[in-house]
Parts: sequence; structure tokens; C-alpha cells
Amino acid sequence: MSVTRRVGVVEDARYGEHEAPAGHPERPERLAAVASAIAERAPEVERLAPRAAEDDEILLAHTREHLEQVRAAAARAPTHLDPDTYVSHESFEVARLAAGAATDLACAVARGELGAGFAAIRPPGHHAEPHRAMGFCLFNNIAIAARALREREQIDRILLVDWDVHHGNGTQALFEADPSVLLFSTHQFPYYPGTGAAGECGRGRGEGEIVNVPLPAGCGDAEYVGAFQRLLVPVALRYRPQMILVSAGFDAHQDDPLASMDVTEDGFRAMAEIVRNLADDQCGGRVACVLEGGYAPRGLREGTRALLCALLATQTPALPAPVELEPGSTLASVVDRVVTVHGRRNPGLGAA
Ligand SMILES: [Zn+2]
Repeated sequence: MSVTRRVGVVEDARYGEHEAPAGHPERPERLAAVASAIAERAPEVERLAPRAAEDDEILLAHTREHLEQVRAAAARAPTHLDPDTYVSHESFEVARLAAGAATDLACAVARGELGAGFAAIRPPGHHAEPHRAMGFCLFNNIAIAARALREREQIDRILLVDWDVHHGNGTQALFEADPSVLLFSTHQFPYYPGTGAAGECGRGRGEGEIVNVPLPAGCGDAEYVGAFQRLLVPVALRYRPQMILVSAGFDAHQDDPLASMDVTEDGFRAMAEIVRNLADDQCGGRVACVLEGGYAPRGLREGTRALLCALLATQTPALPAPVELEPGSTLASVVDRVVTVHGRRNPGLGAA
């Protein structure tokens, strides 16, 4: 199918005003690497100016106490909210701009004003829990966007793909009992923040709608792409999302200093193409992606380039050739573990 569509990108110099302590990996320079990849496709993307999220939007995902804690921390900055999570003088405003950008991008895509998009924002969000900042994250940008999609756009089946190398504990905490979001997460495990075992699969009305794919250190393109083919695709076909959101961290890249994975630009491109293929097939191509982690300049540049390549493709990308399941391989054991938990609910899970 040939599709001409508008792809939106959010970039803004103000995201650099969340100032990191010396030596901290989540630093403003990360966005220069992302910007260099966006610049390569500049004529093809539309710019979306970020807007600061209002208090009531942040409260879609967070407690009032948490909102006020971040506001107060910025007023006495520099300070920390946990050993990893710093707050500078402008951090509250910058975090509001991050949440607002994610929300506006997602809603514009939902309304068809944009076909798809990518928000190059910081601070990241997926570790932020309803009541606390954590893991470099102040507000959970993508969770706020997902809640806004339901409130404003009546979207009540969102597939949220989180391929950041860390488990999105905050996103899981927000949606584990909520069937309007299916969270599919690949992450290094065991690793920070400690959550994300395959057996954590949601509860109550959200039971089965958290699909955790824990990957041992050392996984690369074959394991990630194989997991997307054999696990994400069947789950998405069963869930029939109205829209796809992506927590696009690029810290599974082989250069990343914080994690131990081996994903290359080709791997990120194949993952993004699978997501784009699913979006075209299931929900009119509607996919909005939000930057999470990624701490190596080359990883950020190559990951962003791969993502934009998939979003901007004029034709629906074909699914890549299936990665074989060698008996006894890492991929085989990961697939097996997830099928044990989710196989009954998802026809064809584990097959390519
Ligand atoms: Zn991460």
C-alpha cells in the first residue's frame, strides 16, 4: 500500500535547559545527536512546537503531591529526587514541555492531523511512577499522552511498545490494571529498575495486557527482531489497537554505556518497520514515538535515523524475514517464557 502522510517532529532548544550535574549520562548533549539524525530528513518532516502541559494533564498520570514535589524541587534547585534523578532550576518547566509535546503529538496523530511522529524530548519519562520521580524521569510523558488520548480522543485501545533497554516500571504501574493500554516491553533483565519479569502480566481488568519480554545481557538484533516478530506481532493482531505509542529509548544500542545489549542501526530499523507495518495494518498508520533513554551519541543518532526511516517510508515496509528459533538459543528460551504466560490468550504467540 502506498501512503503519503505527514510525519511530525518535536524539537526545541529549551529541552537543553534541564541541566545535568557534571558526568551525568542524561545530559543535554544527547539531543544534539538526535538532532543530527533529524536534520538529515529535515525537508520531509513537519515541526510541531512544544506546549507546556497544564497541571490537570500531569494529574492524569500523577498525584498532586508528586506534581508539587517536582515544582518545589525546581524552586530550590539544584537538588535530587532520588540518587539518579536530578532537578535543575528550569527542570519543572522543561518537564512540562516534555509531557505537553508527547500529548500534543499523540493527539494530533489520533485526529489525523499528522500521520505519525517523534518527540525528541527530555527528561525521559517511563520510570516515573504516579507518586514519585525515578531513574532520570520526572513525569511519565507517554503515560500522560495515553491518558489524554482516552479522555480527549476516545481512543481506548492503545498499544504501547517500550523498547528502551530498561523496564518502564512507571508505565507498568500506571496501566497494569487498565485494559485501555497494552504495554509490550523488551528490556535487559535482570537489570535496573528490577521489575519486568515475564510473570508480571497485569491484574484485574488489565490482566494479560502487560507483556514483558525480559532479555538477558548480550542480546542483539536477532533477539530483538525475533521477539518483535514472534511476540509483538501476534499480540498486536489479537489486541487490535486504535493507535500505537512507542517509548523509543536507544540504550539497547551496542555503544550504550549504561546497558549491555548489542542492537545496531539495522536492528532498530527492523523493529521500527515492524511497528510501522502493524500501525498501517491495524490503525491507519497512527503511531507516535517519544524519546526515552539512550546515552551513546552514535546510538541516539543511528536509532533516530532508523526510526525516521520507518516512519517516513512511502510504502508500508514488509515484515523482515523471520528469525529462526534455534533450539536452546537465547531467543528460544525468551519466547518460551513469554508463551508460557501469554500463550493461552494470544493465538499464534511464538510462531513467525
Ligand atoms: Zn533506558
